[in-house]
Amino acid sequence: MAIANKTFKDLEEEVISKGECCACGGCVSYCELQGFNVIEMKGYTPTFKSDKTVDNCKECGVCFYVCPQTTPLLDKLNEIHQVKDELGNIRDVLAAKTTDAVIKEVGQDGGIVSTILKYLFETNNIDAAIVSEYNENFEPIPKLIFNKDMLSKSAGTRYSISSNILPLKDLYINAQDILSQQKRIFDIDQMRVAFIGTPCQCRAINKMKLLNVKPAHIISIVISLFCFENFDYNKLMETLKSKVNVEAANIKKTNIKKNFFVFTKDNQKLEVNIKDLDEAVRNHCHSCDEFTGRFSDISIGASGAPEGYSMVLIRTEKGATLIDSVLSVGYIERYTIPIDQVSEWRPKKLNWLKKMISLKTK
Ligand SMILES: Cc1cc2nc3c(=O)[nH]c(=O)nc-3n(C[C@H](O)[C@H](O)[C@H](O)COP(=O)(O)OP(=O)(O)OC[C@H]3O[C@@H](n4cnc5c(N)ncnc54)[C@H](O)[C@@H]3O)c2cc1C
Ligand code: SF4
Ligand code: SF4
Ligand code: SF4
Repeated sequence: MAIANKTFKDLEEEVISKGECCACGGCVSYCELQGFNVIEMKGYTPTFKSDKTVDNCKECGVCFYVCPQTTPLLDKLNEIHQVKDELGNIRDVLAAKTTDAVIKEVGQDGGIVSTILKYLFETNNIDAAIVSEYNENFEPIPKLIFNKDMLSKSAGTRYSISSNILPLKDLYINAQDILSQQKRIFDIDQMRVAFIGTPCQCRAINKMKLLNVKPAHIISIVISLFCFENFDYNKLMETLKSKVNVEAANIKKTNIKKNFFVFTKDNQKLEVNIKDLDEAVRNHCHSCDEFTGRFSDISIGASGAPEGYSMVLIRTEKGATLIDSVLSVGYIERYTIPIDQVSEWRPKKLNWLKKMISLKTK
């Protein structure tokens, strides 16, 4: 598929060199999955593998068009996803929390994301999920997982880039291994995968779906996390070390509630003024106008939710059916809106989220 004369060199010029790459891994995933052997991620930057691989480029332009940071497909994407305002299409809004004691312990907010994945695995509605685990230094590791037992390793939020589309580049390399371990899967292209990611990553997945290109063909449900900003891993760890003297290896959990909180393995709770982390914010986040993830089936975050709950924005029929199912089996419980607030609750929450977006884009 060749599209309008764009190549990876245009992506370098218009996105990467300007600090606008959000390291989603989409460009590399597409190109590598085709076996073109042209580009790779060096750390968090997509680049030609070497001077020699420049000539392998087919000049197909797909890497440019699937990139969440390029504009050509956006109007079409907005039309398909019925995006008419900054929040995007929303069918329903609720606050909910998990009823699973283990997920409650390790989940970031209401534990909704992990509980949805648990339900999807148990009911054989997915074969795999793309999540973000982390290493001993609290550095995110994007991963394709195949069962619910692996969920506790990904629960919780790491506030730095996890290139969640990248694991899909090796889909065919790992196909034999996957097929031999997963008895239910007979054809790698028929796998059903839940994708969890930031709004920019969900945008890239949906651009791939719009162009009908791999690897998005196996993504069967897209769940977006709310995302106000994201941090450069090294800068974040350096700042945390200099402000509260914490080593990356001692971090158990982090949370943002007005300020940045670090919970350590030796049971300390440390607070860092969020403004002190400004320098560590990734450049592309400054120009990002998403917050809740318009291009998803369901968006989940804590902003606006009662303590211990998550806000859940349902955007599509698929998302509505899934949330109904997870509620009906009692895996998550819905926040009961006080009787005197029923009529104003929904508009109030949506207004709050709109305010967050305007604060973000100021
Ligand atoms: C960079 C970032 C910024 C965020 N900013 C906000 C915010 O400003 N306001 C707000 O309300 N919510 C924000 N969130 C979302 C919030 O932190 C929770 O992820 C969300 O509320 C879901 O909570 P949960 O308890 O349902 O999820 P859990 O059940 O705890 O599951 C969390 C999921 O997040 C995934 N994950 C963890 N770290 C990353 C990462 N770095 N990149 C991609 N996926 C990851 C894991 O794979 C896991 O599937 C942010 C998330 C990220 C990753
Ligand atoms: S082959 Fe296509 S996808 Fe790969 S780098 Fe070249 S233009 Fe991009
Ligand atoms: S597709 Fe993703 S990784 Fe590639 S240049 Fe665009 S933002 Fe960066
Ligand atoms: S703020 Fe925007 S660009 Fe930055 S990680 Fe979040 S969704 Fe992506």
